[in-house]
Amino acid sequence: MVNLVIVSHSPSLAAGVAELARAMTRQQPIVIATAAGTGDAQHPLGTNADEIRHAVETAYSGDGVVVLMDLGSAIMSAELALDLLSPDMRTHVRLIAAPVVEGAIAAAVQASLGGSLDDVANEAMGALAAKIDQLGQYQPQPPLKTKVTHPLAGAQDIVVTIENRLGLHARPAAQFVQTAARFQADIFLVRVVDETRRANAKSINAVASFGARQNEVIRITAVGPDASEALQALQELIASKFGEDGEEAAAPVAAVPVQTAVEAGAMMGVAASPGYAMGPAVMLHFAEPIVERQSIENAAKEWARLQTALGVVRTSTEMVRDQIARSANKYDAAIFDAHLLFLNDPEFLDSVRHTIETEHVNAEWAWKTAVDSSAQKFEAIDDEYLRARAADVKDIGRQVLVQLTGQGKDVQLPHAGILIAIDLAPSDTARLDRSKVLGICTERGGPTSHSAILARTLGIPAVVGLGPKVMAIADGTSLIIDGQGGKVLTAPTNAMIDDYTKRLKEWHLARDTARSASAAPAVMKDGTAVEVVANIGSTEDARVALDNGAEGVGLLRTEFLFLDRRDAPSEEEQFDAYQTIATVMGERPVIVRTLDVGGDKPLAYLDLGREENPFLGQRAIRLCLNRPDIFKTQLRAILRATPKHNLKIMFPMIADVTEVRRARALLNETRAELAAEKAPMADRVDVGIMVEIPAAAILAHVLAPEVDFFSIGTNDLTQYTLAAERGNRAVTHLQDALHPAVLIQIRQTVQAASVHGKWVGVCGELASDPAAIPILIGLGVKELSMASGSIPKAKQVIRSLNLKDAQAVAAQALQLDTAEAVRKLMKTA
Ligand code: PEP
Ligand code: MG
Repeated sequence: MVNLVIVSHSPSLAAGVAELARAMTRQQPIVIATAAGTGDAQHPLGTNADEIRHAVETAYSGDGVVVLMDLGSAIMSAELALDLLSPDMRTHVRLIAAPVVEGAIAAAVQASLGGSLDDVANEAMGALAAKIDQLGQYQPQPPLKTKVTHPLAGAQDIVVTIENRLGLHARPAAQFVQTAARFQADIFLVRVVDETRRANAKSINAVASFGARQNEVIRITAVGPDASEALQALQELIASKFGEDGEEAAAPVAAVPVQTAVEAGAMMGVAASPGYAMGPAVMLHFAEPIVERQSIENAAKEWARLQTALGVVRTSTEMVRDQIARSANKYDAAIFDAHLLFLNDPEFLDSVRHTIETEHVNAEWAWKTAVDSSAQKFEAIDDEYLRARAADVKDIGRQVLVQLTGQGKDVQLPHAGILIAIDLAPSDTARLDRSKVLGICTERGGPTSHSAILARTLGIPAVVGLGPKVMAIADGTSLIIDGQGGKVLTAPTNAMIDDYTKRLKEWHLARDTARSASAAPAVMKDGTAVEVVANIGSTEDARVALDNGAEGVGLLRTEFLFLDRRDAPSEEEQFDAYQTIATVMGERPVIVRTLDVGGDKPLAYLDLGREENPFLGQRAIRLCLNRPDIFKTQLRAILRATPKHNLKIMFPMIADVTEVRRARALLNETRAELAAEKAPMADRVDVGIMVEIPAAAILAHVLAPEVDFFSIGTNDLTQYTLAAERGNRAVTHLQDALHPAVLIQIRQTVQAASVHGKWVGVCGELASDPAAIPILIGLGVKELSMASGSIPKAKQVIRSLNLKDAQAVAAQALQLDTAEAVRKLMKTA
């Protein structure tokens, strides 16, 4: 027998409803439990999730329970109670959006007749029909499966005009839903010209696909304790045009034509990797995950899988949103709020859950079906802008499917050309067909962002940080990119094509000459040799490094093994990867940097939680020291690869000597454990640290005795010294590592190291900057580690120097006051 639970703010109301319903079921009584009131004599009206859970457990029979609730927070408490139930029980409990009195009576009658859970729920949902028929009044159409009560008596209305140019599109829709969600009242949008068209104001899907256009008049109906406050807040939001007045023009979206800058059809971005490229635009596409319908036994387990996937996508979306909000403008960031609302949309999630539970299908199938149908709704709207929102829905839907299936990360390039992407992740390096990539243009990123590093590693010309307008370039458009000038030409004239064809030829010639000379060591005119090594992040990178004349690896970013996956790589997987890379490099040294994640590289499976300032949070060594399981697994894999290869270990983000000691203690512990297992290892492995936090540079004399070498990470050292976030376009002017504040720390680090007989390298992007190379060598840096594509040019620069001159120019640079002054000096030096 299906039983009932009545949830109300008022104990007397719940008792009264239960009494009425019981009166209908005298023949065949059912259990009708109530959960109502707060139990607090001072403030008796309210609901409590735990009490609701208790009531459900009391009423529970194998056939299930139907829960009816009054309004506002009662709905939230009931949802919370549902989450507190055992997964098995949860699949047999339905929260029903029917009006409490009519619904309870109809449900009780159907239950006492022996109806199934679905029968009882459906009966409750149709309970108002008789009353509506009889009174012949306004007929709200409750959306099927929603848990939200619809407006009844006491509803308040306002009529408003949407003035925004693009109507209630994704960003205003997101703000509208966020504002509505602050209130307990149930709120609906009603189309004035067609009263049957309604949307739940707390559902991003419903509001965005409602499709209100510019100058459209709509009615907003609210019912609940704070209805008038809610309507006032929404009215103010609409009157403010959702704050879009100025920004809409300043930050064009896909539908707006590309802005012009410099010459017609030119876009300016950040020069990220030198060289020129000409060819058709090719948009980055990802393979679609393949989803098949499967029957499942355990609906709760499927729902839990979906929750985990949603959690991962929510976290990464929030991170991107926060980063964009800091680096671009609030307008750009708001699109991610729309994505987040989609991931949290109660109506949408409810429909997915309903499909899983009633059709007994796998989470990916239920999710995909709901996403496709939502996207179709957008596609059917008679408005070009809103139709284009279908792409947003598909995109975010796809991200969840990637998490659920583990498929769909493969990058596809339909043809060769200039790659256009929002951004490139380190993991994309391994997946790109490099032979098809002539150049790279990205919407996001600064000079030390991953996209820029990736392009330099591959020796591919690139312009990054071009802003949203770059994504409006149509696939196949003829482009020219100038990686030195940070410029992209979208409508090149014949004269431009001639000019750049000439430059391209010269550049290829210079590059090939430098490459052919690159196998030889970099020896200065006075005979001093400087070690030029590579920064790599994969086995493929190791091969590219060798081709470019790398004398070893100064920085192996091991993150590539850990990102974009559902769990940490095993010891065996890591062991294989380190061995393979070391084998490619032969006898040459390979410095393996231990895991540097956190910051802008979150790992879903580590559940780091949300950090206000991830770059100042649990990143790199901080994370590893808190997770010795992950850290020691990596150390075991590295140590096991040492007998046959020339490996060194390097700890990132060291701020304090105690971190070095703790890391070394864990390394010793790992060594002892491997020795006990009789695993072969090299007797001695050099251990170094990255100097990339000012505290480490300032106390380099304290750290030097504890290590074998220092490698200066100028990307982070600049970020932390000048308090200018990497990749943040708004502070690009503060991201120049040639700033004297950074150079002074490099000098201090080198001096402290030499007192203790230790060597210093530089592995930040500064190491490959031709203007910086003389200064670094002059300051006493012995090893320069850089993206492979930069090695040939760097070797050429080194060969043109002599040590004395380099020392003199370094001393001069240290006397200057700004990075610009240092750059000016290097132009004339
Ligand atoms: C640096 O910070 O300079 C560095 C080389 O490390 P990463 O870029 O990986 O943070
Ligand atoms: Mg760093």
